[in-house]
Amino acid sequence: MGRATPIAKIAIASPLRTLFDYRLPDVFSGDADATVGLRVQVPFGRRQVIGVVVAIADHSAVATDKLRTIEVFIDQQPLLPAPLLGLFLWAARYYQHPLGDALFHALPSLLRRGDALPDLRQTQWQLTDKGRGLAPNALGKAPRQRALIDRLLGEQAVDDAALAAQFSRAIIRLLESRELIAAHQVDASAATHPNPQVLRETPLVLGAEQQRAMAQIELTGFRCWLLNGITGSGKTEIYLQCIEQVLTAGRQALVLIPEISLTPQTKRRFTERFAVPLVVLHSGMTDKQRLAAWTRARNGEARIVLGTRSAIFTPLAAPGLIVVDEEQDGSYKQQDGFRYSARDLAVMRAQRENTPIILGSATPSLESLYNCELGRYSALYLNARAGSAKPADWQVVDMRDQSAPEGIASTTLEAIEQTLKRSEQVLVFLNRRGFAPAVLCHSCGWVAECRDCDARMTLHRGRNRIICHHCDKQLPPPQHCPSCRSTQLVATGEGTERSELLLQKQFPKVQVLRVDRDSTQVRGHMQQVFDTANSGVPCILIGTQMLAKGHHFDRVTLVVVVDGDSGLLSPDFRAGERMGQLLTQVAGRSGRSDLPGRVLLQTHQPDHPSLVLLLEQGYGAFAEQLLAHRKTQQLPPYRHLTLIRAESKDPQRAEKFLRIARQSAAELLPPTPQLGYLGPLPALMERRAGRYRYVLRIEAEQRTTLHQLLSRLMPVLERHQDPRHLRWSVDVDAQEL
Ligand code: ADP
Ligand code: ZN
Ligand code: ZN
Repeated sequence: MGRATPIAKIAIASPLRTLFDYRLPDVFSGDADATVGLRVQVPFGRRQVIGVVVAIADHSAVATDKLRTIEVFIDQQPLLPAPLLGLFLWAARYYQHPLGDALFHALPSLLRRGDALPDLRQTQWQLTDKGRGLAPNALGKAPRQRALIDRLLGEQAVDDAALAAQFSRAIIRLLESRELIAAHQVDASAATHPNPQVLRETPLVLGAEQQRAMAQIELTGFRCWLLNGITGSGKTEIYLQCIEQVLTAGRQALVLIPEISLTPQTKRRFTERFAVPLVVLHSGMTDKQRLAAWTRARNGEARIVLGTRSAIFTPLAAPGLIVVDEEQDGSYKQQDGFRYSARDLAVMRAQRENTPIILGSATPSLESLYNCELGRYSALYLNARAGSAKPADWQVVDMRDQSAPEGIASTTLEAIEQTLKRSEQVLVFLNRRGFAPAVLCHSCGWVAECRDCDARMTLHRGRNRIICHHCDKQLPPPQHCPSCRSTQLVATGEGTERSELLLQKQFPKVQVLRVDRDSTQVRGHMQQVFDTANSGVPCILIGTQMLAKGHHFDRVTLVVVVDGDSGLLSPDFRAGERMGQLLTQVAGRSGRSDLPGRVLLQTHQPDHPSLVLLLEQGYGAFAEQLLAHRKTQQLPPYRHLTLIRAESKDPQRAEKFLRIARQSAAELLPPTPQLGYLGPLPALMERRAGRYRYVLRIEAEQRTTLHQLLSRLMPVLERHQDPRHLRWSVDVDAQEL
């Protein structure tokens, strides 16, 4: 008997958790495995859809004569290299997400649609033998044609674009038809391959600590390094010098950054250092730009790939190193749909592609610190600032004995004034946009709340609206209290808009520049802020965490944290960790060059033990204490946490679904000290956008237990789902409660 007909297992963008079986056309029967990784077009119900062949099997649960045949192969070469396709398969299983959906999520949208990979080869022109042999006086009556021949005479080849800039298409075509010149295609990726000369500028001479770290890092094979270095200690310089080695060896580097607004700054630093093609990938690009960048990475032309979260899915022809900067940053976790962690996938990817990976941070996540403790990651430390910069000096402003009607204490205002007088810059941090987080009635205590959420409306004076930050409902500000008709309505609390106004009033002669999600709606605003800050004029920058992350401002010497208490109140067990990271990051914006820096932290709880520990002993000691606490509480990273979330307009439905989920889970795997179920509990914000939200927590000591459970639980949940009335999701390694 001959071998059974090979069956192609195809992933299709759909919420179904299955692969679909199709017959391969006969031409492939001898070489079925070569089709893995190709995109295909297949009949699906009455439609034609795009899919990717992910595996070949020799039998199907469906009778062979019922199977349909693949009609069109879109790609000639696998779109994704085998280790990357393997990573997607793994990630879909790990995050319990339908494979087709996960895979298509990771592709540029034009490829999802079925477009061909763009042909990025460049057309070049050169003389034919006939053209080269042309007598010097030939074409005397056609000076343009003669000029074109002369242009090519001295050259090997000339780019089409360059030639077309000098000569008309008609002339180029005419000479081509006379066989005097000929076009040929060059593969840009091949042109750049072995790369002896990668540097554009001379690297900095490393300081002692940097040298020690650099000497430890091995750049061959898989290993995960946690570069734990305070802000300004020269981590980026270490990335650059590692990348240099990788480039010289003819390989590519993939660099992830947390925030799109950091791209220009980072890109500049990389292109100043390296004379190699670099592409950027982030959500602010057009589909066409994305596809071109993705393709350049895939074919090896781009030697450095720089991007935000989803860039982790970019294929590389010659992977050599992955860098994840600010590895603790929450933006690496996708919070809806395919809920992956780009940081964790990066480590997995490095392992599969057998390359080193560097996770860098001034404030590493507890997960990564724990992984160092377990010996899975290797820690490298940079404890001093690079160059002549000194760490910033913290001071607490006790708000209990201050009058600060608009949230900024008079001592703080004095410090700002002193700083501006010295022609230095000030950064004011307040992680709350809008004018005021609450509007209330002075007579009866009524508070403006969102109709659809358990939340207050935020007053935005600029837009003259009250806005819910959770569902984006917007209303005109009330003129009188709906409860008692009083017109004595007051806006309480501070947002960035209010502080901006206050500071502008206090310091009318300096520029006050606000950076938050509202102000950056204006095109070019960010650039203007950077230009002003970098010009060195005394100014005040005020903003949310958008401003706090990673930016480098030479002349900022005073950082003010307006609301140092905000992180002390949240019921989320990760709130303390996030507060410590954010405050340390913000403080790191101060005194980055040779001017000494200072941080003023306004708080009503100056004696709060976590705050005291953070300020007196720094993030390292602070994180150690948090880890000890997590251990006694058996919380992540000591346990693996998965949340099943459900929400519904009907308050009972979501809870009931999760009760069934818990029951079914307990039947599959009864709770033990190593596997716990908690809930269903109301979400931290129970009602949001008109839906009631519940969560079921599953905590396991072993990942494998958790995954055994989840993969058996999913089909059960799918049987009980009710898409018209209920939304539900699974969040493996959930970051937000
Ligand atoms: P981090 O990434 O840790 O915040 P950077 O690499 O951005 O630190 O370095 C902070 C500043 O110190 C930058 O201006 C950088 O150019 C400078 N720097 C880094 N390493 C050195 C060095 N070895 N010698 C002199 N200056 C350095
Ligand atoms: Zn009232
Ligand atoms: Zn709302």
